[in-house]
Amino acid sequence: VSTDITRRVAVLGGDARAAAEASRWLDQGVDVTVVAAEVTAAIQDLADRGLLVWVRAEVADGPDRQDDPSPAGRSEGSVTLVGGGPGDPGLLTVAGREALESADVVITDRLAPLTSLATLRPEVRIIDVSKIPGGRSTPQEEIDCLLVEHALAGRSVVRLKGGDPFVFGRGGEEVAACEAAGVPVTVIPGVTSAVAAAAAAGIPVTHRGVTQGFTVISGHVPPDHPDSTLDFAALARSGTTLVVLMGVRTLGAICAALVDAGLDANTPAAVVADATRPSQQVVRGTVSTIDQDARDVRPPAVAVIGDVAGPSLRSRSSLGTDR
Ligand code: SAH
Repeated sequence: VSTDITRRVAVLGGDARAAAEASRWLDQGVDVTVVAAEVTAAIQDLADRGLLVWVRAEVADGPDRQDDPSPAGRSEGSVTLVGGGPGDPGLLTVAGREALESADVVITDRLAPLTSLATLRPEVRIIDVSKIPGGRSTPQEEIDCLLVEHALAGRSVVRLKGGDPFVFGRGGEEVAACEAAGVPVTVIPGVTSAVAAAAAAGIPVTHRGVTQGFTVISGHVPPDHPDSTLDFAALARSGTTLVVLMGVRTLGAICAALVDAGLDANTPAAVVADATRPSQQVVRGTVSTIDQDARDVRPPAVAVIGDVAGPSLRSRSSLGTDR
């Protein structure tokens, strides 16, 4: 890595360690160029989103592919699913950090806090299994196999995920795969973007006198899609804050379905992208305008629909006078 006074660095190599290094610099607001013939899916994703520049070139002493590490004196391997939080390395839990520090193998994702991998011992093997929407991805069965195989070889495996492993994180499937193979598995919860993205924009998902709950839904398919199992009429009536994950593409259809089902068209809404990262972006509007207002926003983003997303929350007072 070389720096100059313009706060620009070049990271040489495109493997998972280079991704961690690049992420560490990005966290510090430094412009990053990755120079490598090939890159991991996580680096590709950062480049596709314009957060770093990838220069496709052979580097003389780029990091070599790592060998499988031998287990560190343990007879039985294990898998720990670690919720890494929304991206800011400070929002990884202490327990998650400790699990990473004692891992032989770390299997990571593009939305995980990659910076927290920059300080792992050199012998730790890092495997990037990012799924890029509409792009490169590792099938879930292959991820399940990797977890099980490394654990059965006696290694301590950490599966690092963005947010919380059980909030749209396929954590349940990975736990089931481990249990089916007789591999001991534990889960360390994480700070979910469903709550943290709103918080990073100053929006509390609940607020006394405004709303008594919040509902988290996946927007990966639009309301009229055969795979959608959500009851939009019920959601529109729920009186809770609605938090939509994976909904950048479908936000217009979701908002329209809510208004059609009777939600007040002037209900405040906000979109928070890249929450807790230096590239965080917040757009505010109403349930009728937010899709247009946020048309230039790219995933990952969370939409928050409800009075808590409005500008006048503080004047609404939490003193309980407002019913
Ligand atoms: N398990 C994760 C969610 C995985 S689904 C969690 O608990 O946060 C992936 C979705 O999470 C994205 O499409 C986006 O809606 C949301 N997301 C994750 N990280 C985010 C971030 N830093 N900023 C905004 N949205 C984020």
